[in-house]
Amino acid sequence: MPIEETAFRILINRATAEARGGLNSEQGAGSPVVKLADVLLERSIERRASDLHLEPQANCMRIRYRVDGLLQIDENILPQDLMVVLTARFKVMAGMDTAKHQCPQDGHIEFACEGRQIDIRVSVLPSIHGELMVLRFMNIDERLLEIDELGFSSENKALFKSIIEKPSGLVILSGPVNSGKSTSLYAALQALNKPESNIVTLENPVERVVPGVNQVEINPKGGLDYITGLKALLRQDITAVMVGEVRGEDVSNYIVRIALTGHLIMTTLHTENAVGVIFRLREMQIPPYMIAATLTGVVAQRLVRKCCSHCQEEYEVQENSSEKQMLGEYWHRGLRLKRSCGCAHCHGTGYNGRLALQEVFVVTSGVREAILQGVDRQRLQELVEREGMRTLWQDGIDKVMEGKTTLSELKRVL
Ligand SMILES: [Zn+2]
Repeated sequence: MPIEETAFRILINRATAEARGGLNSEQGAGSPVVKLADVLLERSIERRASDLHLEPQANCMRIRYRVDGLLQIDENILPQDLMVVLTARFKVMAGMDTAKHQCPQDGHIEFACEGRQIDIRVSVLPSIHGELMVLRFMNIDERLLEIDELGFSSENKALFKSIIEKPSGLVILSGPVNSGKSTSLYAALQALNKPESNIVTLENPVERVVPGVNQVEINPKGGLDYITGLKALLRQDITAVMVGEVRGEDVSNYIVRIALTGHLIMTTLHTENAVGVIFRLREMQIPPYMIAATLTGVVAQRLVRKCCSHCQEEYEVQENSSEKQMLGEYWHRGLRLKRSCGCAHCHGTGYNGRLALQEVFVVTSGVREAILQGVDRQRLQELVEREGMRTLWQDGIDKVMEGKTTLSELKRVL
């Protein structure tokens, strides 16, 4: 269990004394420095951090945790005397060379915490004040989410299920890095995973293991790149394929070809919104008739932080506020929304966990016709909205109205 704040401060003081030579250097598990390194890892895990940053400043060391996608600072600062010994301790744990201080190094820690083995990737980079150390927690959230847990509105969930349950066609998830695309794809894989289906993935790297799905890791040095993998898939008696990412014209051409041969293929692209996918495919030299023939649906998504339920309160949106402007037609007199003021549960941030915003459209006969005609982005956007697609912004507003997140989160990510 992570230790409480006072005990943590006492431990920092004892470790500092040890670093200054004030304590008879206590070896092994009894050493305060060794204990402090373990406690920092435990504190990160307790906060659900994806990364722990140890950053030397001019005269101290700053501790930050990345939680729900944003960095949070630890109010405790480590004295300068502790920097070198603490970094050395992590280097020993990660199997790095403790004598080297001038070059970047990578390492790996297997850390036992509350009965689990946590995989930690460690990176060191020399800065002007000392070595920057970033520890990434790889398998902190082991459970795969199901479609019902992805935060879809009920309409969007039905649309998403309808496109992945089609026997063939191309389904694309779009969004920036860390927008939860892989989580959604893994949820889709699990939903499709049945004894009568052969689902194969090509991933670089395999992020999560899905029991029953045949996952292949891309290894260009060993002669397995996306193209060779995709070619081989055509001889593997497949039902559905998930390709981690489409990069380059060759790969996109193969993906379309697989979709044309009567298979379901799911992949991701990095575009601003759902409609942008069609224009990205065109930039990849896929002719409009091929896009129209294969693409069955698109999901664009973003992650916002969820309001902390422990410190949530209601407030009225005032007429002269900037929030009223953001809400536009959704505002009415007396409208009450929720916000969180920050508490011990959310480490003062007001947020706890994340939630996806989505926009989903299915390629209908109208959309197909528009793709064939090569209509511009604005007209296509108008068409899909007319056909009922709720935009990321509208989906976000719905979730703000439901008290799940806040307008400032929408402003931050959209
Ligand atoms: Zn809170």
